[in-house]
Amino acid sequence: MSELKPCPCCGSCEASIKVMTVGTFRVFCESCRLCIPGCQTREEAVEAWNIRAPQSQWISVANELPKISGPYWTFNGDDANESVIQQRVHMYDSDHRQFNSHTVTHWMQLPEPPQ
Ligand SMILES: [Zn+2]
Repeated sequence: MSELKPCPCCGSCEASIKVMTVGTFRVFCESCRLCIPGCQTREEAVEAWNIRAPQSQWISVANELPKISGPYWTFNGDDANESVIQQRVHMYDSDHRQFNSHTVTHWMQLPEPPQ
């Protein structure tokens, strides 16, 4: 039963899925009480929780693509010139299953903004 990654706030593995009275699903951390906004399905709730989990591993686009559209930190290994800006933000479109640049070879979640 490890479909939920550790809590992005406290690192606890005591998160659980709660079905709200209005028929939405939320993931709730028993330890620090972090809670994500309600989702329509159980799967969405799990995904929304897991996407917040700490991670800093590059994922190859050949192995796995993001499941949700939005901005991602990317490595552009197919850039014409190697430079520090091979690492930058690109948008991913889950409908077309592609980044808005064909140079993206790896991606990872954006870090959380400063508090
Ligand atoms: Zn927590």
